[in-house]
Amino acid sequence: MMKKGLLLIPTFLFVLQLTNAQQQVGVWNVKNGKIETNKSENDQLGVQYWECIHSILPNDLLNKYVLSLRLFSDGKSEDMGGMNQLDETVEFWQIDLDTADMNIFTRDSIQILDYTHTLIHEFGHLLTLNTSQIELTDDETEDPDRGYLTTEGYAIKGSYLNRFVEAFWKPNLLKEWDRINKKKNKKKLVDRLYDFYLDHAQEFVTDYAAESPEEDIAESWTFFVLSDKPMRSGGKYQKIKFFYQFPELVKYRTHIRENISSIPVSYVENFKQN
Ligand SMILES: [Zn+2]
Repeated sequence: MMKKGLLLIPTFLFVLQLTNAQQQVGVWNVKNGKIETNKSENDQLGVQYWECIHSILPNDLLNKYVLSLRLFSDGKSEDMGGMNQLDETVEFWQIDLDTADMNIFTRDSIQILDYTHTLIHEFGHLLTLNTSQIELTDDETEDPDRGYLTTEGYAIKGSYLNRFVEAFWKPNLLKEWDRINKKKNKKKLVDRLYDFYLDHAQEFVTDYAAESPEEDIAESWTFFVLSDKPMRSGGKYQKIKFFYQFPELVKYRTHIRENISSIPVSYVENFKQN
């Protein structure tokens, strides 16, 4: 559920096997928003990363759901890490970060903005896929009466994702995307998803957003936080404006913007696709 800028995980894993192996930097338990050191050689680094994350992202959800921090590296790009569920219950989450992609010691403003985007995007997954948002199920095919089916379960009626899909993923678009998603050949899948993005480029804030409704809401949420409120309407601008109807999300936005080192100018207009 991660990997901003790379369309698909399988291709990426393939590349990974051919190039860099992942080096583990460390894993730490987190309890009620506090990291627990474990006498490993990188304890201090773990604490520094956790403090960085905790100082930017809203604490209530982190404290409630995040039980673990894992740092690793496979070099730049490749796997950037993500917010991952520790099991199928969507109650327990781990933050995985590549220390090469997210170098919290850098002074390069582009790199800082890049990892800030990634952190906010990842938080978007926690926000939209936690237990208050998703009803677990064993259904493998979607029951249209129950709404949009994610890998873990149905987006609960009234959840952010359910409302987002109802507003922006009309049945025809979902059908078109579903057909593409059935492709078994990974290269074809990546190509077709990119064509899908190009066919609907006005609707998506980035190419990565077109990968799925889950990525679309995480990316749109990121632009909601980092952009000014759009003056324009329709298409991707409407997706950014969507979040303003939720006062708690406007508060999160304010919190994050107060805690990042700089706020980009006209982010959605200036954003360069990878
Ligand atoms: Zn993602």
